[in-house]
Amino acid sequence: MPAVAKTKENLMKCLCMSCPTYTEECKAKAKPELEELKEGNMDRTHAEAMFCAYEESNCLSEEKECLCPTCVLFAEYNLENSYFCMKTGGK
Ligand code: SF4
Ligand code: SF4
Repeated sequence: MPAVAKTKENLMKCLCMSCPTYTEECKAKAKPELEELKEGNMDRTHAEAMFCAYEESNCLSEEKECLCPTCVLFAEYNLENSYFCMKTGGK
């Protein structure tokens, strides 16, 4: 399984922000960081988005549904796991 590239193009394909698991509270907390990411500052270990490329979330804790299997990156990178926000590398 190739590592998902931390690119702006990939970030735009990520469905996490539309996912029921991503709470409004965590979206509000992550807003400044997401703005930075959108500006292209993506070379980092952690981000509260595109969890398959970065680590697990520091904010999300309750699994509701995972949209990863329907994400284009899931197919593009031959991902097998889901809930990348709950566990680094998915589960
Ligand atoms: S596979 Fe999941 S975590 Fe990765 S970009 Fe798609 S929706 Fe986001
Ligand atoms: S990794 Fe899966 S469960 Fe977590 S926010 Fe993204 S789509 Fe939702």
